[in-house]
Amino acid sequence: MIGLFKKSNIVKGERNEDLPLTHDGMPDSYRPNGLCPRCGKQSSFETIGELPVTFDGAIVHPSNGGAPYRSYSDKVISMICRHCHQGVVVVEEEWIGDHPSRSGIVKGGEVSFRGIHWWPLPQSKLSDDIPAEISNIFIEAVQAYYAKAPRATAVMLRLTIEAISAHFGEGSGSLAQRLQSLSSKNILQPSLSDWAREVRLLGNQGAHYDPANEVTMEDATQLLNFTQELMKYLFELPAELKRRRNL
Ligand SMILES: [Zn+2]
Repeated sequence: MIGLFKKSNIVKGERNEDLPLTHDGMPDSYRPNGLCPRCGKQSSFETIGELPVTFDGAIVHPSNGGAPYRSYSDKVISMICRHCHQGVVVVEEEWIGDHPSRSGIVKGGEVSFRGIHWWPLPQSKLSDDIPAEISNIFIEAVQAYYAKAPRATAVMLRLTIEAISAHFGEGSGSLAQRLQSLSSKNILQPSLSDWAREVRLLGNQGAHYDPANEVTMEDATQLLNFTQELMKYLFELPAELKRRRNL
């Protein structure tokens, strides 16, 4: 009889000693620690169960004489956060060595499963100091980011920056030009406008951005960090300063 999946494959959440204790990302069976999307804390996690999702058509006959099972290329696991004691669902894909199996690069190496999607999405509660019409767009960008959709993330982040610059009266021109105008009016700190030049997706592209262009997750991360700092500087810090002055 062919079993549905290899039960002995359930990961107990042992730590790979070569990996850092904490990292910026969210947990998976490969790195059972990191940012908890539920409580927002750095935590460690215990995997309590897993199920296969996509079968690749092969049947595996274990060399130890165990029951044959259908081979699979991705799976879903539930991990419990040791801080908030709630579960996080992770969809994971198979890696061989340093590459996902789906990339077709077969050089041998250790088989692992690494996270590609997480539920729930990390909390994206923003400060009330950011105008709602801006934070609503930014929240969509964050959702696209955690769905690993870099182009959709970039489009929503660029829209967020457009909305921010329109809020300060800069309603036309490329994003780079708008940020430059904010800088020359002293609304934007020089270090932020310098940083904007380093962000590839704010670079030499015109007002009409083509989302079909190659956009990597690294590009999306860079633009996300920049937009977050921009909102902090333009909305949160001034509001905080005003509150302190009024004390
Ligand atoms: Zn937690």
